[in-house]
Amino acid sequence: MSIVEFANVTKRFGSLVVLDQIDLNIECGEVVVVIGPSGSGKSTLLRCINVLEEIDGGDLVVDGISVRSGSKNVRLIRQEAGMVFQQFNLFPQMTALDNVAFGPQHVRGLSRTEAREAARDLLAKVGLAERTHHYPSELSGGQQQRVAIARALAVKPKLVLFDEPTSALDPELRHEVLRVMQVLAEEGMTMIVVTHEMSFARRVGSRLIFMEDGKIAMDGAPAELLDLAENPRLREFLQHVQ
Ligand code: ADP
Ligand code: MG
Repeated sequence: MSIVEFANVTKRFGSLVVLDQIDLNIECGEVVVVIGPSGSGKSTLLRCINVLEEIDGGDLVVDGISVRSGSKNVRLIRQEAGMVFQQFNLFPQMTALDNVAFGPQHVRGLSRTEAREAARDLLAKVGLAERTHHYPSELSGGQQQRVAIARALAVKPKLVLFDEPTSALDPELRHEVLRVMQVLAEEGMTMIVVTHEMSFARRVGSRLIFMEDGKIAMDGAPAELLDLAENPRLREFLQHVQ
């Protein structure tokens, strides 16, 4: 079953075409890794799925709902597609627990007690059982990003979108975030991950997409694309990130 369907989707910023007639189907359970040069449209692709950007042409259907079908449905889509950003984007004035409990309580309508219980479980799952009452400023970048993942999961999304989740982290903190993402993938979560962590792409990704100038230039099995790298532009790109 498709969870995301792009049909001839175009997105422009002024006269700049950022997504150029994209056709893309993503099935439940896929772990799609998206790579490509800066400015190729990777973030915009994710932001259109989560309706943080409006598309200009074509149609985009997420979990059976068209992103063009009005604001009530936009809220539904946002509940089904959790997002994890490069800069964590936690609420700075809230503890880790309150950051994670916020969605279940205010979006899913759980009681405060239920929401906090669910949040505690999720923080334990990402290895932060001992940090529930810490504020973001008291956590390392890797810990903050794990809180952000727990927060994205808290509203029980069907799909999680990751936009360069380890790019802001020191190299020694990246693995703890990647490990949490790997567990999530192994549990069968549908994920779209923009990242330049090629070992993660190879190990965890079920599919690799190479974007270029707002188009999907390559789409296939990670090992195949990476080993063959027949496309000279992909080869050049890989030399810069590996
Ligand atoms: P990537 O994530 O692959 O680096 P983006 O999707 O962020 O690329 O951006 C694609 C292009 O769209 C870039 O040229 C960027 O400058 C432009 N862009 C992104 N967001 C906006 C915006 N809000 N307004 C104008 N231009 C934008
Ligand atoms: Mg980006």
